[in-house]
Amino acid sequence: MDDETRYEQHVRRVLRTPLLFLQPLMLATWPLSLWINPLIDSPYQTRYYLMMLLLLAISALLSVARSSRMMSLTFTGNIWALALAFRLEIHDGGAVGHYWNLPIVLIVILGTCGMTYRLSHYLTTLTGAGVILLAGQEQLAPAAMPRQLVWLLIAAALAIGIAYNHANSKWMRRTFRLKERYRLLAETDELTGIANRRRLLQLMETARAAQRTSPDHFVMLDIDHFKAINDRHGHQVGDEVLIAIAREIGQLHPALQGGRLGGEEFGLLITGLDAAEVDRLLVDLRKRLMNAAPLGITFSAGVMQLTPEVSLNELLRRTDECLYRAKRRGRNQVVWNG
Ligand code: GH3
Ligand code: MG
Ligand code: MG
Repeated sequence: MDDETRYEQHVRRVLRTPLLFLQPLMLATWPLSLWINPLIDSPYQTRYYLMMLLLLAISALLSVARSSRMMSLTFTGNIWALALAFRLEIHDGGAVGHYWNLPIVLIVILGTCGMTYRLSHYLTTLTGAGVILLAGQEQLAPAAMPRQLVWLLIAAALAIGIAYNHANSKWMRRTFRLKERYRLLAETDELTGIANRRRLLQLMETARAAQRTSPDHFVMLDIDHFKAINDRHGHQVGDEVLIAIAREIGQLHPALQGGRLGGEEFGLLITGLDAAEVDRLLVDLRKRLMNAAPLGITFSAGVMQLTPEVSLNELLRRTDECLYRAKRRGRNQVVWNG
């Protein structure tokens, strides 16, 4: 998943709760206004029902929107439909219907600035709503109201809306970046830069629960006589060897996700390869480690296929047992479970 997709998900999560409050409000305001508006003969008219159906349909789309793009689109659609509904009410209000214009414009300007996380989205939503609501009206504000006051109110509301929208977008980006930084910190092994134990176990749990047609395998891998490297060449060289091993694991195969389980122990999650292919891959890794490190590194490993029936703890226990057997049998070999 790329950064932008993650950001969109973050935005969706942040906006979900305010939307939960705003949506019923958007649905209830217009019928309520029809009901209490003395300029409307009767709120029970077919075109009002149709309009309400349109509002409900767009609102339903907004509720089920899974991507933030879809959420933005349906939110704008909802505001435009609301503008259309009020336009209908203003039209039906006759000679003084336009008294509604200014309050509705102000509510739309201030009510949408926090729900649109890009300035372009905010301005598009406002422009569309403005056109739907006001285009073609002969009189936009009550004649007795000074024009300067009308423009001042609109300009002030717009300035507040833009400032809030900008601050909101920045805040969302900043919280997202922070969240990403901590997520990466929590999932990365500090020394080698590959996935740490927590991350690898998460990936394994996901793979284990997924009902895939092709098999997934887990390899628990331990470097042979690593202590001797430290003792002979120093801890610093030992660290460099661990980094080199992690690099080799990372470059081995696209179907492989490697992680450091701890110390000189690594875990490999291999997705979609059969047992023979996993064996070949481990032979390849053995060659690479022998060539990459001038210290003649070998490893022992325990391997097992992932199944939903076997829990993660059980999987770790069994592969650890296989690894232990590989060590006892003389190291530099792979032992399969079962
Ligand atoms: P075996 O073949 O039985 O696995 O022998 P071994 O020496 O690899 O295993 P042992 O568990 O006796 O030693 C593991 C060594 O790994 C001991 C420890 O100092 C070293 N080690 C663990 N983590 C690190 C690390 O981050 N950096 C370095 N340089 N060494 C580490
Ligand atoms: Mg070891
Ligand atoms: Mg060990």
